[in-house]
Amino acid sequence: MQRKEFGLGDIVEMKKPHPCGTNAWKVIRMGADIRMKCTGCNHSVLLPRRRFEQRMKKILIRAEEAGE
Ligand SMILES: [Zn+2]
Repeated sequence: MQRKEFGLGDIVEMKKPHPCGTNAWKVIRMGADIRMKCTGCNHSVLLPRRRFEQRMKKILIRAEEAGE
């Protein structure tokens, strides 16, 4: 089973790419709602946590592992 634990600063891939063609989003706010920012065009989106988890495909880069 795939783990879907994510944290602030992680880069995640969603089930659908952003219309700009990029499918890498940075988590910039954690809470009841998750704010994520497209790394391609810097557009940011706010999603309820449950919706975010449904739409997220996988974590591409964990902030912890990147050493930030
Ligand atoms: Zn974009």
